[in-house]
Amino acid sequence: MNSNQAEIQNHRKLGQELELFTSMEEAPGMPVFLPKGMVIRNELESLWKKKHQSAGYQEIKTPIMMKQSLWEQSGHWDHYHENMYFSRVDEQDYAIKPMSCPGAVLIFNSKRRSYRELPVRYAELGLVHRHELSGSLNGLLRVRSFTQDDAHLFVREDQIEPEIDSILDLIHEFYSRFGFSYKVELSTRPEDFMGSADMWDKAEASLESVLEAKGLPYQVNHGEGAFYGPKIDFHILDSLGRSWQCGTVQLDFQMPEKFGCSYIGEDSKPQQPVMIHRAIYGSIERFMAILIEHYAGEFPLWLAPVQAKIIPISEVHAEYGNQIKQQFEQAGFRIEVDCRLEKMGLKIREAEMQKIPYMIVIGDQEVLNRSLSIRRRKDKKLVVLSIEEAIMLLKKEMDSK
Ligand SMILES: [Zn+2]
Repeated sequence: MNSNQAEIQNHRKLGQELELFTSMEEAPGMPVFLPKGMVIRNELESLWKKKHQSAGYQEIKTPIMMKQSLWEQSGHWDHYHENMYFSRVDEQDYAIKPMSCPGAVLIFNSKRRSYRELPVRYAELGLVHRHELSGSLNGLLRVRSFTQDDAHLFVREDQIEPEIDSILDLIHEFYSRFGFSYKVELSTRPEDFMGSADMWDKAEASLESVLEAKGLPYQVNHGEGAFYGPKIDFHILDSLGRSWQCGTVQLDFQMPEKFGCSYIGEDSKPQQPVMIHRAIYGSIERFMAILIEHYAGEFPLWLAPVQAKIIPISEVHAEYGNQIKQQFEQAGFRIEVDCRLEKMGLKIREAEMQKIPYMIVIGDQEVLNRSLSIRRRKDKKLVVLSIEEAIMLLKKEMDSK
């Protein structure tokens, strides 16, 4: 990797220049999203919601703060309390969630389940807080509060394979959208494990058989699974050739046991489901940091906070500029007009620095012909089109995303 290039593409630097996010002394490690950063974030979240809905997930939202006793039951208190935040309300101890799993379990357990309704797939964009040392904080990459794109699936043993298979498809769909290739790692039974060796063997064999059937090359990390189950991790490769662990799919035999999860089997007897924890972005904040660096701030049209900037050559062209803006907005685009009484050259330079995908310049000719000169940042191609043609051009680019 060229370290100079990495510095130019640094997400903290770009985040400031492009006004995407900031940090405040009042909340160290808890990123603050500015309007433009929020646009990107919302696009990532709405893509996520849409894809999960069509993949058969149901979205849930569980509380950020829950009683400490719940975290004692889940085991987070034993294994994780040094990284957790606490509070005391009405003489009761509470903890801020570092993960969303227990909340999903409580929802699963809130009613009687039959084998027929499995798999149950709960998706949650969960805001979690984890204490990190102040020296290790880094922009959006290492933070104390972030949103996990979590999902918890409750499945029968015979459903592990088909469910993992669809999760792999979903993960592939997401990473391809951003042009990321990725590496896959399978982590197997550690020395200290929970559940029966027989169950682990079966679970590992089913993970392997899904990976084999998909023809996905993978590396095996022997003995590096979590104590509660084997897992598959996904490492994406960015435009600078760096690798980032983002997605994860983990089988869990422990939590259903701890919380007494059950469903009524075909034989009318209670059975214990297997839980699958999985994330694709990993954390929305961290994924955004990776995207900012991957694209060097030059976001594809669908993610760009401002998709086009209209630059009227002089004051008399401003009214036509506003008409164009209105039509683009009605077609669903994010567009701005630069009506300031500044020199053309300055306005163009600033739009360049903001890395806006399209620049639309209008002068006498354009007003007269009801046209516009539109220039694409990516290839510097300049064309003169009607407003309708320009909208079609951008729509086409959005559709091919
Ligand atoms: Zn979980």
